[in-house]
Amino acid sequence: MMNVPAIAKKTFDQFKDNPEFNTLVRFVLEHLRKMTNPFQRVDFIHRAIDDLNEEVFAHPLIKEMSPCKEGCSACCHTQVSVTDDEAALLARRISEGVEIDLERLKLQVTAGDDDSAFYKMNFEERKCIFLGEDGGCRVYNDRPSVCRTNAVIGDASQCDTTNGIQRTQLIKTPKADMVIYASFYNAKSSGALPHMVAKALGLR
Ligand code: SF4
Repeated sequence: MMNVPAIAKKTFDQFKDNPEFNTLVRFVLEHLRKMTNPFQRVDFIHRAIDDLNEEVFAHPLIKEMSPCKEGCSACCHTQVSVTDDEAALLARRISEGVEIDLERLKLQVTAGDDDSAFYKMNFEERKCIFLGEDGGCRVYNDRPSVCRTNAVIGDASQCDTTNGIQRTQLIKTPKADMVIYASFYNAKSSGALPHMVAKALGLR
């Protein structure tokens, strides 16, 4: 089953008939299908997303108006979808020594892909297993595709999900969204980060 992140799905539905975006999706799929190594595929996708987002996030108005900065981690308490390749990369980092809270992982796994079950957990329980005490991501260079496109304009308080309601207005990153859509389409499996990482670790 394809668990495409909602924003990427929305962007795909909006731009799938646009020739430029159409070409981009075909380019990504063509390259992914030539690669047999999951880490090579995920590196290709993450680089493509970062390259496409560079111009968006470097815009002077966005730089001035966006409150996103290191240590602000409200969006790291939301449900993040990953592909099997991304889960394999994150599991590799854990096996190499990146620390996680195993009990919180097991708790989050119980929500599966059900976002309403996920948002029934309290704010602390929903905290991403990779979020450090300093508010930084412990796997920043290898963070999932979705985390690479998360940025907002306005006040950081809009990202607050302590009451379980997500109301963030994300900066539009349509080309990166199309790359994300293609990678989820190509993936053998995808889903919420906790159960995908637990599976890649052999815990379920
Ligand atoms: S992987 Fe990193 S950036 Fe993504 S939600 Fe977790 S802590 Fe935040």
